[in-house]
Amino acid sequence: MNELLNKRPHRRYNPLKKQWLLVSPQRTQRPWQGETNDGVVAKVPSYEPTCYLCPGNKRSNGETNPQYTNVFEFPNDFPALRMEEATPVETGSKLMVAEPESGTCRVLCFHPDHSLTLSQMKVDDLTLVVDAWAEETAKLGALPTINYVEIFENRGAMMGASSPHPHCQIWATEHIPDEPLAEGAAQAEYLAEHHSCLLCDYVKEEQAAQERIVCENESFVALVPFWAVWPFETMILSKTHLGAFPELSAKQRTDLAEILIRVTTRYDNLFQTSFPYTMGFHQSPTDGKEHPEWHFHAHFYPPLLRSATIRKFMVGFELLGMPQRDITPESAAERLRALSEVHF
Ligand SMILES: [Zn+2]
Ligand SMILES: [Zn+2]
Ligand SMILES: [Zn+2]
Repeated sequence: MNELLNKRPHRRYNPLKKQWLLVSPQRTQRPWQGETNDGVVAKVPSYEPTCYLCPGNKRSNGETNPQYTNVFEFPNDFPALRMEEATPVETGSKLMVAEPESGTCRVLCFHPDHSLTLSQMKVDDLTLVVDAWAEETAKLGALPTINYVEIFENRGAMMGASSPHPHCQIWATEHIPDEPLAEGAAQAEYLAEHHSCLLCDYVKEEQAAQERIVCENESFVALVPFWAVWPFETMILSKTHLGAFPELSAKQRTDLAEILIRVTTRYDNLFQTSFPYTMGFHQSPTDGKEHPEWHFHAHFYPPLLRSATIRKFMVGFELLGMPQRDITPESAAERLRALSEVHF
């Protein structure tokens, strides 16, 4: 890579979102006067009587969870969306535009053990979770009013996770949400122009460069993208072209579980803490159309910057101008790559 990208301020382009990012590698030398104390890892019990996700416990709507033994899936008791007949919303203004949105929000517990995180799950158990992600995508995506299935996990109090119990959310919506909509449009445009897939081409370039790859297995590669905004942001990309969870082969499902465990173990080892993040998958829409442009991937957006408690904030220039980072994606990848895959 051009050495200047290590030394001087520059802009990098994110071709998936068609946005720019400011990189300021020279700023890593500036004095830091913020908080420096490290977080303490609290011991979490395997069963928590007050947890609304643990087996056999009562949820706020009065229902009792079954004594589930692997995955457990149920409708969110406080859904952000409901399956409702669309009644037009008329504001009478061309500037204040609103429209009805219907959909459904579900919760999927990964495991009955309250103390587990992705990094501490067994490959076999996490493969069952991948199977459930595929089933939910197929089931919800088949509903005529559902055009997108977004699966995501908020991990840690810092990310506003409501419970430490290992679980994710599945939001299925009538409209394709903005992030996958923008990425889909960029991928479609690239396919039309180059007659190849944007992310297939990107994976090939990263494999040739070997600078930003964190780890890989037969089916997937984990890397810090060239255009990463968050300090230790990563993407997990399939090595072969595929669009959505239901298309994953048995081997690819096991490999996805395996690489998720390896990436989150490295994250935990980075600051010797249960590493917080928002993680989620981008897959092709379920709108009944062909989507040859869509390449399946996961994004990890972790907030931590330099310790278990010091996080990056998106403020100032980032809110008003554009995202900015100090440590380069290459040095973040180097640090993640150097870490052990044995949990601390
Ligand atoms: Zn629990
Ligand atoms: Zn592809
Ligand atoms: Zn994406």
